Amino acid sequence: MTKKAMQKNKVARGNKASKRRGTTTSRQAKKYVYFFGGGKADGNRDMKDVLGGKGSGLAEMTNAGVPVPPGFTISTAVCNAYYEQKGKIPQAIEREIDANLKKLEKTAAATLGSTDNPLLVSVRSGAKFSMPGMMDTILNLGLNDDAVEGLGRRTGNGRFAYDSYRRFIQMFGSVVLEIPKQVFEHELEAIKKKRGVTLDTQLDDSALRALVDRFKHVVRKRTGRAFPQKPAEQLTMARNAVFRSWMNPRAQEYRRIYDIPDHIGTAVNVQMMVFGNMGNSSGTGVGFTRNPASGAKEFYGEFLINAQGEDVVAGIRTPQPIAELEQAMPEAYKELRRITTTLEKHYRDVQDFEFTIQDGRLYMLQTRSGKRTGYAAVVIATDLVAERLIAPKDALLLVDPESLTQLLAPGFDPVQWETIPTMTTGLPASPGAASGYAVFSSAEAVEWSQRGKPVILVRRETVPDDIHGMFVSQGILTATGGMTSHAAVVGRQMGKPSIVGAGALEIDEDATLFKVGGRTVREGDSISFDGLSGEVKLGQIATQPSEILQVVSGQMKPSESDIYRRFDKLLSWADKVRRMGVRANADQPDQASIAYAFGARGIGLCRTEHMFFGEGRIPIVQRMILAENEADRRQALEELLPLQRADFYGVFKAMKGKPVTIRTIDPPLHEFLPKREDLLVEVSRLEIMGGRPTELDEKRRLLHRVEQLHEFNPMLGHRGVRLGITYPEITEMQTRAIVQAACQLSREGMKVIPEIMIPLVSDVKELRNQKAVVDRVAAETMKEAGVKIRYLVGTMIEVPRGAMTADKIAEDAEFFSFGTNDLTQMTFGFSRDDIGKFLGTYLREKILEKDPFTSVDVEGVGAIVRIGVELGRRTRPDLKIGICGEHGGDTASIHFFESVGLDYVSASPYRIPIARLAAARATLAVRVGD
Ligand code: PEP
Ligand code: MG
Repeated sequence: MTKKAMQKNKVARGNKASKRRGTTTSRQAKKYVYFFGGGKADGNRDMKDVLGGKGSGLAEMTNAGVPVPPGFTISTAVCNAYYEQKGKIPQAIEREIDANLKKLEKTAAATLGSTDNPLLVSVRSGAKFSMPGMMDTILNLGLNDDAVEGLGRRTGNGRFAYDSYRRFIQMFGSVVLEIPKQVFEHELEAIKKKRGVTLDTQLDDSALRALVDRFKHVVRKRTGRAFPQKPAEQLTMARNAVFRSWMNPRAQEYRRIYDIPDHIGTAVNVQMMVFGNMGNSSGTGVGFTRNPASGAKEFYGEFLINAQGEDVVAGIRTPQPIAELEQAMPEAYKELRRITTTLEKHYRDVQDFEFTIQDGRLYMLQTRSGKRTGYAAVVIATDLVAERLIAPKDALLLVDPESLTQLLAPGFDPVQWETIPTMTTGLPASPGAASGYAVFSSAEAVEWSQRGKPVILVRRETVPDDIHGMFVSQGILTATGGMTSHAAVVGRQMGKPSIVGAGALEIDEDATLFKVGGRTVREGDSISFDGLSGEVKLGQIATQPSEILQVVSGQMKPSESDIYRRFDKLLSWADKVRRMGVRANADQPDQASIAYAFGARGIGLCRTEHMFFGEGRIPIVQRMILAENEADRRQALEELLPLQRADFYGVFKAMKGKPVTIRTIDPPLHEFLPKREDLLVEVSRLEIMGGRPTELDEKRRLLHRVEQLHEFNPMLGHRGVRLGITYPEITEMQTRAIVQAACQLSREGMKVIPEIMIPLVSDVKELRNQKAVVDRVAAETMKEAGVKIRYLVGTMIEVPRGAMTADKIAEDAEFFSFGTNDLTQMTFGFSRDDIGKFLGTYLREKILEKDPFTSVDVEGVGAIVRIGVELGRRTRPDLKIGICGEHGGDTASIHFFESVGLDYVSASPYRIPIARLAAARATLAVRVGD
């Protein structure tokens, strides 16, 4: 079976699974095609699974009395049937489509292929989640050599009819017949040159007729058959091409990036065409009810007079701002404002809409929730609450937790920024500071970034195929296109700083350079731009922390930052909703302070060994490791004690009395020693050069110890609890440092309850051994200090056996914390450090859906977590359970942890806001049974 066929089968299997889950309903004859038109629709807004986003929006608008051209939606289930039946569609569904086509002809009072009153339709994709530009669309379908004459007669506009026909052949030719686009572009350019014109709109009736002939010739030459003249055949072919486009590489890549499952399929919308290219009282445009980049409450969008929709989105012509529509067509503008305002209220969210004006009459072609930057999302969500359009808990659902990272991203250092002249300015499509080396193709972007070089992708315009290049770039800069062009839409969604329509740039992609204002910038030259102001400058410019970070770190007052106040408000709503606590993984007092300021209320993991890497500490640690007897080891540990105590004191204090989980030493000891290879070189050098004998001796001793400590599988070797058991004096020192710091704070009036955590436990006896050490030393230390504090002793669950015997472990453990990094490593048997060698292939081959070290593998690792929770609580019903692996800051994983009833997640300090919001959204979702 070919790879393609396997993928197709997977889609089919996925669909079966979704049927079992009940996405399709009853035993009665299933419906596959949904009509909309004449003020009534079969579907509605709640049917995105079946109709896709576009289809459900069209149905909802039709029901609401909005002027929508009639049509029908072929459901997503048909896409799956298409793949299941290897490119065929069951007869019953074909009949249902025919019946809906008849109904459409009746409603439109026109007939597909008719010579005197032809119906023309658009055929568009539309999945549940919008995938801008990733799949295919065909416009003007139904035209043939006869119908084009009919259209010309009926509209009294032969030019228009032939313009539509040439567009149709061009689109059908490239999308359905898979003839390269450039072949048609080439013919178009040739005819423009021959006629001595520069714009498409300057081609007259006869030129367009000639162009249609050329296009038909191209089709015959390339496919060996004439351009299909039967509209029914055109429709079937176009529909199938849209289904095929679901599996094209860029759509697959897009779904991979955005975690959209393959099995949901796309719907196909067949809709009566209305024409924006019928002259100067016609036009087409797209817009948003609020600014999608800044979130400002302003009507926002752009349009083109005398054009079809694809011209706007493709970024080929730079359109006019929508405000100018008010002068050009005041009536249509007023109507558009009225309808879109109503739609925003109806959907209670920013709407992204498409419209066409045909001869002064407005039609809505799409409405959906608008994609927006993280910045805009927070502004809009807080504004909608202030306007009483939504409740605070609804606001949480309007902000993707991941998008908060955009608000934390750095901006330019304003002083340096001001000293450098602006090279050019474009449209500020997506905010943020971007600095990097200019590259001119996506392939180069990927290559440079694989070499660790930050890049700015500079393109005349981006196309959907650029998705991988955009993904790896620091920023995207284009010369053409408007705020709703592909680069702008995708850049915003990815949270990449983007500037589009920087028209002064003369980009030569083949020569990999651009010229602007007498300057030439070549591949590899540094450029910087500000996606909020649209200014582009030459050179690498230093960045500075975001406003939010400045407030959090005390450099700015909250009252000085509007965005901070909104961010804070939103997260305070999240805190009211969420069930799980949010703690931080932090090892140093400064990290703990940042985490606290970001809203962490507790430390879920303090990796004590990280403290060993502090300034001047490594030699002491090495002495401890090199010690040949317990007395020498204790001597070195004595020196480490005050240093660790000071760190613990700082961390406790920064957490202001909230719980702090401190883990005893975990990594294999060789990690603190120099590399064997380096030492070998050093020893040979000293031997040859005849260095100081003491130095040579010392290096030899070190080398000997390194060789003694060498392990074949250090991750499965002498680490974690095994170290504490073999060297109990390390656990003793750490316990003493923890308890002394807590006693000191207790004396100062701050209550702290340290949680001492033993790592890598697979058997209760290991924990029992270490707990005895901790309890003994804690009792001694408290006695010495004359202070009594409460502390807990618990364990990490990060070895599968630990989870499977969690009921026994819970007899001794007062809390659990899942170490999902190691648990993932040991469950899959994938080394956390070596997975990079094959992960790419595994993802490409779809053996893995995601990197399991980033997002928890619910099926396998998740099953083990579930068992661990259940067994642990069987012994101790009130057992406190958290998670401190990297997954604690991952949105999808947080959702899972909510569903298994963990008490808290612990994430790195900068992911705390994300975790707070994600935890609240998880609570809401679990509550409604999602
Ligand atoms: C873990 O294994 O998930 C964990 C938190 O510990 P570490 O990453 O330090 O091994
Ligand atoms: Mg671990």
